[in-house]
Amino acid sequence: MRTRFAPSPTGFLHVGGLRTALFAYLIARQSKGRFLLRIEDTDQQRSVEGAVENILRTLHWAGLDPDEGVMMSKGMVKQEGTKGPYVQSERLELYQKYAGQLLKDGHAYVCFCSPERLTKMREGQMARKQAPMYDRHCVHLPKKEVEQRLAQGEPHVIRLLVPHDHVFTYVDEIRGEVSFQGHTVDDQVILKSDGFPTYHLAHVVDDHLMEIDLVIRGEEWLSSTPKHLLLFERLGWEPPKYAHVPLLLNKDRTKLSKRQQDVAAEDYIQKGYLPEALINFLALLGWNPGSKQEMFSLAELTEVFSLDRVQKAGAIFDLTKLDWLQGQWIRKLPIAEFADRLQELTAKRFPGAAHDPHFKERADLIHERVTFLKDGPDMLAFFYAEPKISVELLANTKQKVSKDLLPKILKTLVETLESISEKEWVIENLKEQLLACAKEEDLSQGQLLWPLRAALTGLPYSPGAFEVTVALGRPTTLKRLENAQKILR
Ligand code: GLU
Repeated sequence: MRTRFAPSPTGFLHVGGLRTALFAYLIARQSKGRFLLRIEDTDQQRSVEGAVENILRTLHWAGLDPDEGVMMSKGMVKQEGTKGPYVQSERLELYQKYAGQLLKDGHAYVCFCSPERLTKMREGQMARKQAPMYDRHCVHLPKKEVEQRLAQGEPHVIRLLVPHDHVFTYVDEIRGEVSFQGHTVDDQVILKSDGFPTYHLAHVVDDHLMEIDLVIRGEEWLSSTPKHLLLFERLGWEPPKYAHVPLLLNKDRTKLSKRQQDVAAEDYIQKGYLPEALINFLALLGWNPGSKQEMFSLAELTEVFSLDRVQKAGAIFDLTKLDWLQGQWIRKLPIAEFADRLQELTAKRFPGAAHDPHFKERADLIHERVTFLKDGPDMLAFFYAEPKISVELLANTKQKVSKDLLPKILKTLVETLESISEKEWVIENLKEQLLACAKEEDLSQGQLLWPLRAALTGLPYSPGAFEVTVALGRPTTLKRLENAQKILR
């Protein structure tokens, strides 16, 4: 299968776009086919500088590099493949040629209607509660008059002539059989007055010439499909298959909007989501695996994904689910990889972390507790900088550690720990001795361990007291406990 992703370079890559790209990628991989990237920049006013690079970088981050078309190599955008160019603004002559052919064959017509006339026409239709549609004012203009006006350079567009008595029926890969009555289909503009095609003509020409087998795109294009099928027919070409993926919805079932949620894939990258988590999440937006399994890698998705398990109804963009998947994927990272990714980030804050021979063990201590890598450096800070401690932190009402009790607890801790040698500084031993001492001093476990952990880390939440004590080692532990004693005075 040859599939494609065909974004418009209007700024950022929408998460819905990334999901479409994912589905198209999966189908191409499954069939050992090719996944193309085409840039649809026929609306030049909406094109934004740097948007193509941004799209490519995001696709690369997600693991969805295209096999053909517009690609990135060493940070530079290039085009690769025999069916190019793959940027629509570089294909204008092709669209003009096919628009001319449609005109010549009587399947399209020239329209000179001014924007003002069209606005008035639409307003009238709306006032009469009719669906806004071109009223065919120019369809019967005599050929001579058309030629004359064209020769005088009068602004014009080319419209597709839709047969009103036609019933358009096709089988959508997701929605099954879909039918439209010809008289409800507008005579779509296919070539604009500036010589640029509209999306409708451009993508039909491109999907044909680029030999696309399956078009996967957003539901918003469903009602335009009859025009596209008509274009294929009028140009004498076999149409590809179409699959319209469901809309993404906010929790209140309105269309996913910037006002309620981040909609740019980039926002999620910046927030620290792993590509594995976002891809897994997007796959489940509309696709149902048919089993209880919830975690899928890209490779697993390639195995099991199928369009017949994609629903028609809109899919709710549930951030709680995304965060859950993020946590799962972080924990699933092998510790070496987790530590590698985290070390780079931590070293930016604490240069010493870059060459820390114990980094992996330290990272392992927080592996179960991190949801976002970017929170890691804060959680590891106590290894690289003196923690900031206060009486308020050391005391804890929930653990029944009152300020008055702190001097006794700290003294007990120091005495017990001082009696343990470097050699015996291992988890089992520390545990045994500290718990025995708590009993002896009539303190609960929490009363003894809370201040210990807090004094060592300066944090209200951290890995357990024993783990931290071992990881910091004897000298640092004792020094920090002494510091804690000092702030009590
Ligand atoms: N450029 C169109 C869009 O961004 C592409 C739709 C399609 O995939 O055909 O919505």
